[in-house]
Amino acid sequence: MPEHLPKVVFCDFDGTITAIETFAGMLKEFAPELSAELMPKMYRRQITLRAGVRQILESIPSTCYSDILAYAQDKPIRSGLAEFMDFLEVQKVPFVVVSGGLREMVETVLKREGLLKKVFAIFAVDLNINYPNLKVCSDFEDQAELVAKVKVMAQYSVDESIAIGDSLTDINMASAANLVFARDRLIDYMEAEHKPYIPWNDFTDIQNYLSKYWHNE
Ligand SMILES: [Mg+2]
Repeated sequence: MPEHLPKVVFCDFDGTITAIETFAGMLKEFAPELSAELMPKMYRRQITLRAGVRQILESIPSTCYSDILAYAQDKPIRSGLAEFMDFLEVQKVPFVVVSGGLREMVETVLKREGLLKKVFAIFAVDLNINYPNLKVCSDFEDQAELVAKVKVMAQYSVDESIAIGDSLTDINMASAANLVFARDRLIDYMEAEHKPYIPWNDFTDIQNYLSKYWHNE
């Protein structure tokens, strides 16, 4: 039985919580040639994220793992997140991070500002580093994605789901949500599919919107 909650915020990580593409940047750093070959194909939807990201990750030696986490260490967090999470705590709305990136990269970034303990749950890719190369483990794979965000959403029975994202990997989550905050490439996809969304730049924009929106319910 899915857990029933009145409202849940489902938030992407890469390029959404981080102000720059931390996971994609890491893939380019540690597997430059394969990333250059496969990433454009993923953006054009010629190959699935599931196949492309797995192939790139599994080309990286496990000995790089500590450097991968170090890579995430100093990546900037988009402004207003700490205040937004405090706001959600007051409103009793869980903040769930849903990422197609690596769990430990997400945790590394959120730990920095003491935000990790305020997160309700994190769904992301786990790695097995006991082989010569990284090995991907994900509990929520589907045909197209390593972490199918809609499958994660289905873990909860929610009256009002709010999705926050920035890119291709958030389209399905956005289609399944009641309210969508979109920035960057996700705006183009929402426009192309004639779906409603609220544009945002930082978490203060989202907090301001929701504080009015929920107040008027
Ligand atoms: Mg993203």
